[in-house]
Amino acid sequence: MTAPHDAKASLYDRDAQVIANIGRLRFNPLSLTGGRGCTLIEEGGREILDLSGSAGAASLGYSHPAVVEAAGKAMASMGGASLLLYPNAPAVTLAERLLEVTPGQGARRVWFGHSGSDANDCAVRVARAATGRQRVISFIGSYHGNVSGSMAVSGHTAMTHTLPQAGLVLLPYPDPYRPRFSAEAVLDLLDYQFATTCPPEQVAAIFIEPLMSDGGLIVPPAGFLAALAERCQRHGILVVVDEVKVGMGRSGLLHCFQHEGFEPDMVVFGKGLGGGLPLSALIGPARLMDHAGAFALQTTAGNPVTTAAGLAVLDTIRAERLDRHAARLGAAFAEGLRGLAARHAVIGDVRGRGLAIGVDLVTDRATRAPVDPVYTAKVIYRAWELGVSFSYVGLSANVLEFTPPLILTDEQMQLGLSVIDQALDDVAEGKVSDAAVAPFMMW
Ligand SMILES: *Cc1c(COP(=O)(O)O)cnc(C)c1O
Repeated sequence: MTAPHDAKASLYDRDAQVIANIGRLRFNPLSLTGGRGCTLIEEGGREILDLSGSAGAASLGYSHPAVVEAAGKAMASMGGASLLLYPNAPAVTLAERLLEVTPGQGARRVWFGHSGSDANDCAVRVARAATGRQRVISFIGSYHGNVSGSMAVSGHTAMTHTLPQAGLVLLPYPDPYRPRFSAEAVLDLLDYQFATTCPPEQVAAIFIEPLMSDGGLIVPPAGFLAALAERCQRHGILVVVDEVKVGMGRSGLLHCFQHEGFEPDMVVFGKGLGGGLPLSALIGPARLMDHAGAFALQTTAGNPVTTAAGLAVLDTIRAERLDRHAARLGAAFAEGLRGLAARHAVIGDVRGRGLAIGVDLVTDRATRAPVDPVYTAKVIYRAWELGVSFSYVGLSANVLEFTPPLILTDEQMQLGLSVIDQALDDVAEGKVSDAAVAPFMMW
């Protein structure tokens, strides 16, 4: 028995009493009672501009009318709760639509899950089982999820409390801003691996983020991913593209890999696909995806409510050309952030595609040395105090990450810029204490 809960305590304090720390990734003290569009409503009623979109999941913002209507209608007369047990119309229609809009060869199939983590996990399992090859290649800095299988092929430093999958090869992701390993050097390293300790015929798949997100919003050098995919496909290695964070219009094209001029064998969708509801999808060749019956089962995955929401999201993105909006507004946002760099020497680099933008904070533009993570956390904290929410990423925890809802307006973007400007000034002037951000040092 624990003490009776104090109903008068703040949501923030009640959360601390009952929600497990292992499941938290908190960048500011925001506690929520509601939201609409790009606005979140904080406990107490203050409105916050959300430039994170719940890490990109809220692709159409919160409570978008198309999602509310589609999910509500599906909820009002539920065609079962399990795609495993019975086909339902929203799931089948969404699968048809995803195949229509995703480039690929031959007969393909779709698998639905609840999260980016389970979809990448399914991709690992089915690739290994169907090819009989056991090894996987991925990148240092990559994040593919947080269930055992997808964690085990990730290269993020947040995963170092667990061991990678046996035989995993992690390559450096070429970073144009800190070019420690060039694209050519990484391709050369791969060739060397193939020629020595990692025979390509042992490799089932390579997992690629078409724009490395949690690893620091890194846009790969032009031509790198196409060359990499060509090298792997030549050896029968499946190229799996993880579009979870940057797909579904966010990058300025419907699929981020379309910027790179190659065609993957398998594509993973999550986050933005569900528009805030738990939904992920894996597309792959029928010869792999039909590998065996009852192989990747989750009872409520593909249920008619989440897939109806997904269908509404995809249809809205396409009908309203939100990919183009993301390209235009993202370019303007990035331009505005570059403008701030004139006033703030701490801004070393502004990069990204569409509405996936990173601001790399440095102590010195010449050496490009990252700021201390405490500094990054203070910028986030101060921006929250001023009414704007976003978070940070990067293996050095020095990159401000902006992945707002794709419906962000010009006015909201301008408001965001002015708050970021102010927050950078205030942090430089020492207006945020170390103690204030101590609970928000996440990675
Ligand atoms: C967030 C993320 C995942 C994991 O998705 P969850 O929905 O958190 O399970 C996988 N890959 C990438 C690139 C992501 O950003």
